[in-house]
Amino acid sequence: MKELYKLSVGLTLVSDVYNKAVELAKRRGIFWPSYEIYGGIAGLYDIGPVGTIIKNKIVKLWRKHFIGSTAGMVVEVETPMITPEKVFEASGHLKNFTDPVVQCNKCHKVYRADHLVEEILHKSFESFTADQLNSVIKENGIKCPSCSGDLGDVRYFNLLFETTIGPYTGERGFLRPETAQGMFTAFKRVYESYRQRLPVGIAQIGRVARNEISPRQGLVRMREFSIMEVEFFMDPKDESVPLEGIENVKVNVLKAQTKEQGRQDLDSFTIRELVDEKIVIHPWMAYWMARASQFVSDLGINEFYFEEKLPQERAHYSKQTFDQIAIVGGEKVEISGHAYRGDYDLSGHSRVSGQDLSVFKKYDKPMVVKKKSVIVNRQKISSLPEAKDIMKRISNATVEEVEEMLKKNVTVGSVPISSVVSIIEREEKVSGEKFFPHVVEPSFGVERSLYLVVVNSYRERKDRVILSLPKDLAPYDVAVFPLLEKGEIVNKAKDIYLNLSKRFDVLYDEGGSIGKRYARADEIGVPFDITVDPQSIDDSTVTIRDRDSWDQVRVKMDSLVDSLEKLFNGIELSTLGEKASSNE
Ligand code: AMP
Repeated sequence: MKELYKLSVGLTLVSDVYNKAVELAKRRGIFWPSYEIYGGIAGLYDIGPVGTIIKNKIVKLWRKHFIGSTAGMVVEVETPMITPEKVFEASGHLKNFTDPVVQCNKCHKVYRADHLVEEILHKSFESFTADQLNSVIKENGIKCPSCSGDLGDVRYFNLLFETTIGPYTGERGFLRPETAQGMFTAFKRVYESYRQRLPVGIAQIGRVARNEISPRQGLVRMREFSIMEVEFFMDPKDESVPLEGIENVKVNVLKAQTKEQGRQDLDSFTIRELVDEKIVIHPWMAYWMARASQFVSDLGINEFYFEEKLPQERAHYSKQTFDQIAIVGGEKVEISGHAYRGDYDLSGHSRVSGQDLSVFKKYDKPMVVKKKSVIVNRQKISSLPEAKDIMKRISNATVEEVEEMLKKNVTVGSVPISSVVSIIEREEKVSGEKFFPHVVEPSFGVERSLYLVVVNSYRERKDRVILSLPKDLAPYDVAVFPLLEKGEIVNKAKDIYLNLSKRFDVLYDEGGSIGKRYARADEIGVPFDITVDPQSIDDSTVTIRDRDSWDQVRVKMDSLVDSLEKLFNGIELSTLGEKASSNE
């Protein structure tokens, strides 16, 4: 059955390659719907044996780009999925982590309201409020697509999965919808136990859950998935960002301003230009967008751009957001999100927890600053019946607020505050300042990345399927096959397998015809196959076969490791030895 896939501009198209890739994934143990024997649950997927290896390689590559090559600037942690209610109260998720839903009055089917109108009217309604969606439904006479019944009012549905922590009357808790809050609540610990200086990034790779209203598009919109994200804490006043080596990386950007003008065209910028032309709110945003570009290119995905979100399209915590949109199989799919969270989270958690999550920045040398303070004439006030009320009024106010009261000649009862309160300004030496670090967050979905990599690598050749994965992501580097199930040939193949395993990830397979074994290896993306045949016994040579071209060359067995190293370094197969005739 063909499914409909959505383009972010609101168009729909039938995408064959996605369906074919999903079939391949099921057949070859990459992924499939979970709990299939009970009919499956939308939005839940198992990752199979081959998929798990590819997924782990994607994660390894991400770690290299986002942690390993940051000279210790980013550290990794693990925090729980189960989260107490207070955390999501402080983060704003209890109130804001919602999507609009609409229910049919007749058959009671529930739809995500913006998606429903989008599919019917073929344009985007992302970020429309419930009231606006109600009007769109009424004005266009939209009915339930399933039974043509009338639709009820659009309302908001919170996507957090709720649970109880502990038995019976346990505490209300939720499964986290992003790993981020674990990093914010652990920030002080990491900061103090690590280098006690900024910038510092805290990375986490972990499971998250979102009770999506209409999970669809395979691994694109799941209800439980894994996220790879960095919360990068920095001093917003410090714009010295190490752009060496990345400043000339080019990225395509769909600016918010362009969208506001009703256009979708892309502008090309270098990372340096993103900073200099202030396209990004802070240079660190550009730094992480460069890293994301390099990572996505290493996934084999070369067509992508960054779409700046309009204010109404951004999450509640974000001051600026760019979604990285990959174009795979003719579809536009968000592969990562880049949000400037400012001090939203640390200040929120400080307020709700009562813990001080700010950091202290020591100046190079102490500074003299003018400081205002509120002075109360104790003698005068003590004789007044309004003393208590006046004190209450000013003790809850900032110096600026008290100054304002004095300017406006505010009275308590009949007593002007200015008769007992004054403001003085003194010079003070200060050695530093306290502030909440600001946060830049690049965030990738693991399974969505896996899905896009599989679709992007899907090829067909003479009615056969090849998964043309980037070599770093292939589940095995090389496969070893004995051509025949003859003792001597099998023993030699096993020797080669053991020897190569010291250096490479190797698949050994002796079952079935050689053609079938090549086909199986091609379908899971193994870049090279080594075949041991009768000639190998005579002259100690084997064939190496290339997954994508199916060409084969014959090489000496004792130079096999060296030959494979060269191939992984990008040398052409044909330069390694004599062309061998195909044994398929
Ligand atoms: P967000 O926090 O919504 O910006 O999501 C960060 C990243 O997680 C996205 O760029 C996607 O790669 C991935 N992601 C978000 N929602 C889902 C979902 N429902 N299923 C699978 N991956 C998702």
